[in-house]
Parts: sequence; structure tokens; C-alpha cells
Amino acid sequence: MFSDTEYDLIVVGAGHAGCEAAAAAANLGSQVLLVTMNMNTIAQMSCNPAMGGVAKGQIVREIDALGGQSGIITDRTMIQFRMLNRSKGPAMWSPRAQSDRMRFAEEWRLTLEQIPNVDFWQEAVTGLLIENDACVGIRTALGIEFRSKTVVLTNGTFLNGLIHIGEKNFGGGRAAEKNSRGITEQLMELGFEAGRMKTGTPPRVDGRSLDYSKMEVQDGDANPSRFSYLDTPPLTGQRPCYITYTNERVHEILREGFEKSPMFQGRIKGLGRATALAWKTKSTALPTRTVTRFLWSPKAGAPSNAT
Ligand SMILES: Cc1cc2nc3c(=O)[nH]c(=O)nc-3n(C[C@H](O)[C@H](O)[C@H](O)COP(=O)(O)OP(=O)(O)OC[C@H]3O[C@@H](n4cnc5c(N)ncnc54)[C@H](O)[C@@H]3O)c2cc1C
Repeated sequence: MFSDTEYDLIVVGAGHAGCEAAAAAANLGSQVLLVTMNMNTIAQMSCNPAMGGVAKGQIVREIDALGGQSGIITDRTMIQFRMLNRSKGPAMWSPRAQSDRMRFAEEWRLTLEQIPNVDFWQEAVTGLLIENDACVGIRTALGIEFRSKTVVLTNGTFLNGLIHIGEKNFGGGRAAEKNSRGITEQLMELGFEAGRMKTGTPPRVDGRSLDYSKMEVQDGDANPSRFSYLDTPPLTGQRPCYITYTNERVHEILREGFEKSPMFQGRIKGLGRATALAWKTKSTALPTRTVTRFLWSPKAGAPSNAT
């Protein structure tokens, strides 16, 4: 045993879910250990650096009402705010913020570090300690064991994660990050069923290579609101998003590549939302459709140009 401390709670994975779980338990007085593969990717925004949107915006506000940190951190780091669905009734209004990806992650880390009863451990968890049919802790890749009354798994997209890019596929949790092995296998031995969900993401491009003057500007709200009901700072200096459309020539190029596409060749089998891959489906299902809307968001926020 590496540590004599028996934690109240061990949280595996410091994504958004893990950060919120660790902060909530610690703020309620629990002694918490947050174990994550890489301290530099705490609360990393995987794809679109947005919080909220339809349905998700209401959840972030509910988390805020329950005392959570997500709304506060979004308010402190956002660079654009829009209330979606304003043309409909208030029950349909959905707050959505674009955050500065780097500031968002930094703000979460600073917030967690200010909670005295959160300890951190940087390593991959490879197994659970099971005694008398109960989970009593975790084991890491180095064989180090930590004990706790409760373990919360918030591994996100990492459990036996598989990345497909064109005709290639390889194990990975996110771009340039290893997947997590061991936990799924153990859970299955214990009688759990495991399935696979998928997500999709567009390529990142260098913002300096885009001609924004040819795009439609999508500004944030003139009077931006906030996520948190607490006294978070008002948003100043908003940045716009930009909208472009595909044309028939682009669709031709896409169709030429379909035979290399893992989705269209059936190499990806799974459940889940199509996110950014939706345009592919549209191009195939509706071959006469000539435009698909693209939203270019300031992916990384200032000062980076990754878009
Ligand atoms: C390419 C891509 C695009 C996506 N696009 C969208 C999108 O457009 N919209 C959307 O809503 N969602 C999208 N998602 C899903 C996104 O992952 C979730 O919305 C969100 O990040 C989930 O948060 P989380 O806290 O559950 O997990 P994650 O953010 O995935 O965090 C998991 C954390 O756990 C850590 N971890 C995992 N396993 C272990 C282990 N064994 N030991 C130690 N640490 C571990 C990881 O290092 C990571 O820090 C996308 C995901 C990917 C990969």
C-alpha cells in the first residue's frame, strides 16, 4: 500500500465529470483522491470548446444550482455567449458559451488545487481493488494501491478507446493520448456488460490559413448572459464565430473519399451521435443537397490559432 490514507472517495479521470465529482465531494467534506493520467490535460475540452447548448445548457445551470463549479468556470473563461432558440418560448432557450480552451482547463485546475481535501495522483488506473464483492480502492499501472470507501469512474472516451482516421485505426483515448486498459476487462469479469459508443470530430486547421472575410460572422449576444447564478464576472470582449457552406465541388471531393471512410465501409460499429460526421451522412443521403453549414469556432481561444 503506497498511502496510509483511506480516502472517502477516489475519482478516476479528471475530465469535466471527474473534476465536478471531486469538487462536489470535497466541498461536502470528503477526503478525495483524484487520479488522472496527465495533470496537464485536466478538464481538457475534447472537441468544440463549448459548454451548454440545447439540453446541455440546462444541465450546466442545474449543476450550478446544486453548487457545482462548471457554470462558474465557464463564465470565467468564456469568449462568446449565445442564448439559442430565442425565437421559441423561454422553456426552449438554451445557453451556450464558447470558452477559451486553455483558460478553461487552467481555471479548473486552479479551482481544484484550492480545495484542501483534494489530493492528486498522476498515473493510469489499471484495476479496481475488490474485496468481499465490494470495490475498496484502485491499482495503478505501477502497481500502487490506494484504498477508499467509494470509487467513481469518469474515464470519458478512454476505456479501450479506438481512434479511426481514414483507413488507419489505433488505440487511443483522444488525439495524442493513450487509451485506458484493464478496467473494462475487470468490470466484464465482474459481470458488467461493456459496449462501445462513438463520437466524431472535424480536423483542426490553422486559423491563419482561413479567409474569414469570405465567411458569415456569427456574433455573440449583444447583452450576453451567464451560466452561473452567482456573481461571476460579466463577459467583455466577445469573439465571433464564422459560418461557411460547402458547395457541389466539395461534395464531389467528399464522395471520392467515401471508400476510404471507416464509417461508410462499416469499420466503425457503435452507437452514438454523429456530431461532425453529420455532413457525410447528408452528402450521401441527399446527393442533390448543395450546402452544408459549417461553424468555425475559435477553437483554442486567444492566443492560439488552432481552429
Ligand atoms: C474527438 C472527440 C470529439 C468529441 N466531440 C464532442 C462534442 O462535439 N460534443 C460533446 O458534447 N462531446 C464530445 N466529445 C465527448 C467528450 O469526451 C465529452 O463531452 C466530455 O469530454 C466527457 O467528459 P468526461 O469528464 O466524461 O471525460 P473526458 O473529458 O474524456 O475525461 C476523461 C479523463 O479521464 C482520464 N482517464 C481515463 N482513463 C483513465 C485511467 N484509467 N486512469 C487515469 N485517468 C484516466 C483521462 O486522462 C481524462 O482526463 C468528444 C470526444 C472526443 C474524443
